[in-house]
Amino acid sequence: MKRYCPRQHVCEDRERCPRCKLPTKEVGRLDQIPHRYLRTLQAIHTAKNGKEIAHDLGISYETMKVYASHLMTALGCHNRVGLALIWERHLMEIAA
Ligand SMILES: [Zn+2]
Repeated sequence: MKRYCPRQHVCEDRERCPRCKLPTKEVGRLDQIPHRYLRTLQAIHTAKNGKEIAHDLGISYETMKVYASHLMTALGCHNRVGLALIWERHLMEIAA
């Protein structure tokens, strides 16, 4: 399982990031994330702002924020940029 530091460098299986020396965590495991959350993740990656994300998903802005915060907890990141990076990595992995 790959590990990542809080700055989203790939750290392979190291306990500390080789680049920034921060402790790493196993994050970005998408295999146990329910489908509607994966759609949210995809919209976060695609859309420009919170209102657009909610609109793309056909849910309210408040609901989108709840989904995003569940995703951050489940995936071990702290903001929507981190979520977008995780989805981007997932796209690169399935394309590889
Ligand atoms: Zn790092």
